[in-house]
Amino acid sequence: MSQTEKLYEGKAKILYSTEVPEILLTVYKDDATAFNAQKKGQIKGKGEMNCQITAALFEWLASVGIPTHYIDSPQPNQMRVKAVTIVPVEVVVRNIAAGSLCRQTGLPEGQVLPSPLVEYYYKSDELGDPLLTRDRIFLLDLVTPERLVEIENMARQINKNLQKFFDQCNITLVDFKLEFGIDTQQNLLLADEISPDTCRLWDKNETDPQSRVMDKDRFRKDLGEVESAYQQVQQRVLAQFKK
Ligand code: UDP
Repeated sequence: MSQTEKLYEGKAKILYSTEVPEILLTVYKDDATAFNAQKKGQIKGKGEMNCQITAALFEWLASVGIPTHYIDSPQPNQMRVKAVTIVPVEVVVRNIAAGSLCRQTGLPEGQVLPSPLVEYYYKSDELGDPLLTRDRIFLLDLVTPERLVEIENMARQINKNLQKFFDQCNITLVDFKLEFGIDTQQNLLLADEISPDTCRLWDKNETDPQSRVMDKDRFRKDLGEVESAYQQVQQRVLAQFKK
């Protein structure tokens, strides 16, 4: 499957059309950005690692009944996906307080939440991905009320399954961001990626708040050893399939 026209270049991935209209090719890059692209850098090998982690997690989620846009991975940093219309709402699921939740509410980092929190952000680089309310989602006509219920249910289901999966990797799933797409038959599919770029993952073997970080916070906060943390996540995720 050869790539044809470049459709879109994002911060971490490039999207190409293929000779089959219903299939797109995503190429994962080593480029890393943070703070709405104000901080830029590269994480060596990230493209391949994130692609392989996403492929493994999407295949596994499909096996437990979560429909995804993933088809296959023809090259280590490439993924063939079903063409979907991306819902312009980023869905964040949180199990433990961290990041913007702590900054905006004063909750201490590391506080276990009484139940998973589902939040919605407007997918708009221009506006800096602001937090949405349900009423704002409907005001802007971003999704229908019925679709939002479906999205929330699927996000909670994904969280339950991923928490279990990462637990077996000796990793705590703190929080993560999901994107959804709608295919030509109007089916809702999990899309984009699930990787250390889009999740907060803490090593259960470590108690020190800096040493335990296995995700993009190592890049955001200049904690060093970014590549080896991503490698460790990849190894532990892929090891689950060799059991
Ligand atoms: N996240 C993401 N893309 C974004 C914003 C957030 O993948 O554009 C992920 C982030 O890696 C974390 C979770 O969503 O796992 C929650 O992020 P948060 O709102 O705490 O934002 P941050 O503190 O990273 O600014």
